[in-house]
Amino acid sequence: MKPAQLLFEHQRLVDRERILREDIERVTARLQSDPEVVELETSLAEARAIQEVAAARLRESDHEREAHRTRLRSREKELMSGRIRNPTELMQMSEEVSHMKARFAEEEDAEMRLMEDADAADQAVRDAIANLEDGRRRSAADEPSLRHELAGWTAELGEVVAERDSVWEQVPPAVQAAYSRMRMNPRVAQVVNNQCTACRVTVTSSGMQMLRKGDEIVHCEHCGRILVRD
Ligand SMILES: [Zn+2]
Repeated sequence: MKPAQLLFEHQRLVDRERILREDIERVTARLQSDPEVVELETSLAEARAIQEVAAARLRESDHEREAHRTRLRSREKELMSGRIRNPTELMQMSEEVSHMKARFAEEEDAEMRLMEDADAADQAVRDAIANLEDGRRRSAADEPSLRHELAGWTAELGEVVAERDSVWEQVPPAVQAAYSRMRMNPRVAQVVNNQCTACRVTVTSSGMQMLRKGDEIVHCEHCGRILVRD
């Protein structure tokens, strides 16, 4: 191969190497931790936090109602005992008891709502568990093919790196040095229909003649890239 062709091949191998390394990194990360599963785990944790709050509210409401019920019963008992003779006092206590009963009924409605909230929170946790189990199953089902792909890419990467080095060794040292100093990307561009494919500018006829011989490195007069014939 001529120097420009070697550089073009080297560039192709370096590009392939980069893609392979990215693919390997992405799939390795995915095999370590599936972002979809992590998201479902987070959803479950959130559902459980809501469930705990709802259950705590319900427990608290139960305690309060129990205390109010006990007080109401003792007041009713006192009222029925006949110990209170004073009509004003009797009236007051009777009023107090009917207030307590009304409030008790309100609390019952509130508790019904808390129970509904707690039920909905329980259901949300069950749903989140089912979703997570589905997600974990899906993720596990994908693993064999991902591992297979990973093995293929890893093997190819080894070959690509070896070939890249062997191609580079065949490039004359002066050309290696000049190429290494170039900063554009890509550094080598094919010429198709007498045009540099990187910048679309037509290559001069003397440039085309040099390219045909291929012994010297020809740069695009416009973009400065190393040119190679297709
Ligand atoms: Zn160009």
